[in-house]
Amino acid sequence: MVSKEEKDIDIFGYAPFLFIHLGSLLVLFAGVSYPALIVCFALWFVRMFGITAGYHRYFSHRTYKTSRQFQFLLAVLGNSSVQLGPLWWAAHHRHHHLHVDTEQDIHSPMVSGFWWSHMGWIMCPKYSETNEKVIRDFAKYPELRLLNQFPTVVPIALALTVTGVGMLLQHYVPQSGTNGFQMLAWGFFFSTLVLYHTTFTINSLAHTFGTRRFDTADTSRNNLFLALITLGEGWHNNHHYYPASERQGFYWWEIDVAHYILKVLAWLGLVWDLKAPPKTIYDKANTHREFKSNQT
Ligand SMILES: [Zn+2]
Ligand SMILES: [Zn+2]
Repeated sequence: MVSKEEKDIDIFGYAPFLFIHLGSLLVLFAGVSYPALIVCFALWFVRMFGITAGYHRYFSHRTYKTSRQFQFLLAVLGNSSVQLGPLWWAAHHRHHHLHVDTEQDIHSPMVSGFWWSHMGWIMCPKYSETNEKVIRDFAKYPELRLLNQFPTVVPIALALTVTGVGMLLQHYVPQSGTNGFQMLAWGFFFSTLVLYHTTFTINSLAHTFGTRRFDTADTSRNNLFLALITLGEGWHNNHHYYPASERQGFYWWEIDVAHYILKVLAWLGLVWDLKAPPKTIYDKANTHREFKSNQT
């Protein structure tokens, strides 16, 4: 149960979170260029894929299979988003599904309020530990344990790489108008800031605004805008109703970019056994059509 005492927010509770917010202010002093904006967008996109396809659809819900090598790549990609290690992320998310919108749910906007669900709980030191009991299936891999134990190594390596690319561009392609400082500000800090708050909308807004196709016992919603800014996570009512599905947009018109990318990766043989929603789910959706129109 998330009691009042347990909601003590400490802005230093997860220091990298504060660091990313402060670091993002550097864009005010770094100037801007097309290369910096392109890297900012590209790193948001790739890492959002790491969160939704890796941390969420793979490590939390096992909705498809892959090799141990590609599994590690997904873990590194998710880790580069500065949202702690794969075991921590997936363990907390499994807990969310088990206790959604009850007193035990760590980030329910219904129970604990919008800002707590969006980012307050991340700054609460109480939730910094990984409950290995719920993530035993992946905790057996030493390489995942290592990432989970030292979750800032990959983000620091990314920040240094982005800065290095900026310095190289300044030296060899001065007409690009960028430099190491500018790349660090936009490509790493600002990109991570946007990644944070787009990811967090699923815990806050996707339990607040949108339509409900399925009559779930929670407050989850389907929301096109949130699906667009999270590469498919916005179909959250679908997902809470049937979390075993790899695709979260259950119909062709429900845009789910991470699903399209995973389909391509499946054609390439890098991932396989993508689980789709069974037919009974679609029957259920039809029977709830009236419910949906009443709720929207
Ligand atoms: Zn949820
Ligand atoms: Zn989930």
